[in-house]
Amino acid sequence: MRPTANATGIPRSINRQARNLARQRALAQQLLYAICDRPIDDAIAWSDPMSAEVDEIIPVSRGGSATDLRNLEKVHRCCNQLKSDKSLAWARRKAKGAPTVKPTAIPFSTSDW
Ligand SMILES: [Zn+2]
Repeated sequence: MRPTANATGIPRSINRQARNLARQRALAQQLLYAICDRPIDDAIAWSDPMSAEVDEIIPVSRGGSATDLRNLEKVHRCCNQLKSDKSLAWARRKAKGAPTVKPTAIPFSTSDW
């Protein structure tokens, strides 16, 4: 058997570099909207539900590109988890009907105490 190449003929390591670069570029963009229409604060550390992540609008598992910026958008981590491999339209509807901000992401106020 001959060594297998992927469909593009590009070695996987170069693919990964291109993917990481595309994700960094997507994170650097301040897009006009995200799934929930709320602003994304880059100062929030990753793993927080409101931190920034890159979503593939059409998941790679469904044939979307991981390197085409037109297929990448900056979203909240919680919104990315909500969307999973569903469509962007589905996720936007879901985000409007369900709470997407977890209590830990809301600044804690003691002013009413
Ligand atoms: Zn969001």
